[in-house]
Amino acid sequence: MARYTGPVCRLCRREGEKLFLKGEKCYTDKCPVERRSYPPGQHGQGRRQRPTEYGMHLREKQKLRRIYGVLERQFRRYYEEAARKKGVTGENLLALLETRLDNVVYRLGFAPSRPAARQLVMHGHFAVNGHKVDIPSYHVKPGDVISVRERSRTLDLIKASVEAAQSRGVPSWLELNAEALSGTVKHLPTRAEIDVQVQEHLIVEHYSR
Ligand code: SF4
Repeated sequence: MARYTGPVCRLCRREGEKLFLKGEKCYTDKCPVERRSYPPGQHGQGRRQRPTEYGMHLREKQKLRRIYGVLERQFRRYYEEAARKKGVTGENLLALLETRLDNVVYRLGFAPSRPAARQLVMHGHFAVNGHKVDIPSYHVKPGDVISVRERSRTLDLIKASVEAAQSRGVPSWLELNAEALSGTVKHLPTRAEIDVQVQEHLIVEHYSR
């Protein structure tokens, strides 16, 4: 399964905002976006040109793709699926990304970041409705129960994440049972319940050129 393996803070600096890819460091003043708020690389501090319309659409698409850790080909497939569905394409796209199992594990606080959640899922630490699922792109549905598997309950990373995530809270479309280390999908997320700062209509325009 292909994924980006380079330095992740660089991606945030390129997008000019926090994408929360590193876990606890993202919430401290050690975050490089706080300390160096210019793009990475040799020309990062040079004179910035006004972005073109195409450039703005592209940056918005790259930002969303990087937040959820999805490569281009899969991201385009999500877009095509979102366009086929009833409703607003941009909102459908966000809902598809948000219901990925790795994102849900992160949202429930079982992992400090989406990349960490992806790895924990791939290592088989989670079950959906009692059955082991190790596919990060698996889509959860309303009524699904996501739980930490019995043998993984003592894992330090999961225990520390649950504790640290308490201040973050859980989105209203999910319900967390912290004692049982499980969570339930109450309903599919609406746009208002997805706190990702992105202008999804620009992404739709990018793909419908
Ligand atoms: Fe992004 Fe987190 Fe790195 Fe800050 S610490 S640049 S938010 S990945």
